[in-house]
Amino acid sequence: MLKMKAAILYEQNKPLKIEELIIPELKEGQVLVKLVASGLCHSQLNEIKGRKGPDKYLPHTLGHEGAGIVEEVGAKVTKVKKGDYVVLSWIKGKGINAAPPLYLCGDRKINSGQLSTFNEYTVTAENRVTSIKKEIPLELASLLGCAVSTGMGSVLNIAKLKSGETIAVFGAGGIGLSAIHAAAISGASKIIAVDIVEAKLNLAKELGATHVIDASNVDVVRTIKELTGNNGVDHAIESAGLGQTMEQAFECVRIGGGKAIIVGNLPAGHKIAIDPFALICGKQIIGSWGGEAEPDRDIPKFVDLYLEGKLKLEKMLTHRFKLNEINEAFAVLEKGEAGRVIVIL
Ligand SMILES: [Zn+2]
Repeated sequence: MLKMKAAILYEQNKPLKIEELIIPELKEGQVLVKLVASGLCHSQLNEIKGRKGPDKYLPHTLGHEGAGIVEEVGAKVTKVKKGDYVVLSWIKGKGINAAPPLYLCGDRKINSGQLSTFNEYTVTAENRVTSIKKEIPLELASLLGCAVSTGMGSVLNIAKLKSGETIAVFGAGGIGLSAIHAAAISGASKIIAVDIVEAKLNLAKELGATHVIDASNVDVVRTIKELTGNNGVDHAIESAGLGQTMEQAFECVRIGGGKAIIVGNLPAGHKIAIDPFALICGKQIIGSWGGEAEPDRDIPKFVDLYLEGKLKLEKMLTHRFKLNEINEAFAVLEKGEAGRVIVIL
């Protein structure tokens, strides 16, 4: 019987507990992956802190982006084989949408969603894995399943940013930095990064931001307008997860086609206010479901960009922790001073 260590959420607003789980036999369409690294995401922080409302799945495993090596495949799996390097993503790709696994801790059932990655191994569905070239370090590849797919996807698939266009990005964490980097790769003429942490604004510059705004001491919307000849930007990406920045993202895009793309989440029940007249004047506000990334198409493309030296994943990755330090890792994420934080498994 194969066992593994995993971080488990038993109660909201309590630290995760590391426990030993029994890995179930694979069912049809499932894949067993030995994880090497997993990214930490604000959505898990929101789950832990109860910001998404009551949690009917407790106790459960967590984590929805990672990378590792295929250990075993269940019946009818054709997409990957033992030994493949894979990126794991909550975003659905091709393949069988198998049921989530049920882990056991002694006799106690531990729930899992379709994918959990704060574990040494994971059982997931064929459609949550994408095999990748082995030249990329798996630590860096772990960022491709959520932060990079969502951030770059928001620019490439949703904004469809064209060379010479302008963009503002609110929040320079894992997703925002990925968006900034994608805008730079796409040839944006002005890339304005907005944050309140100097270290993150410096990182934004390294990844291609042409201008940075420290939102703690200026009028952000006015500054963006000034930087764009009073027009506003062609695109704005909100990845800070704050109502105020969502409203600013909408205000700072140009009338007649400017797009505000909302990637961040607010706690359940929170609302934002926008002026609907701006919609009639041609501004758009749209959401980003995982950057509309298609893992089978986009993840290999991101790996190639990395191997060509264009995608600087190593700069986005600012903090590494071990699995038994996962609560410290979340404390760092909560402080808002990190780029991408990962756990090494
Ligand atoms: Zn995520």
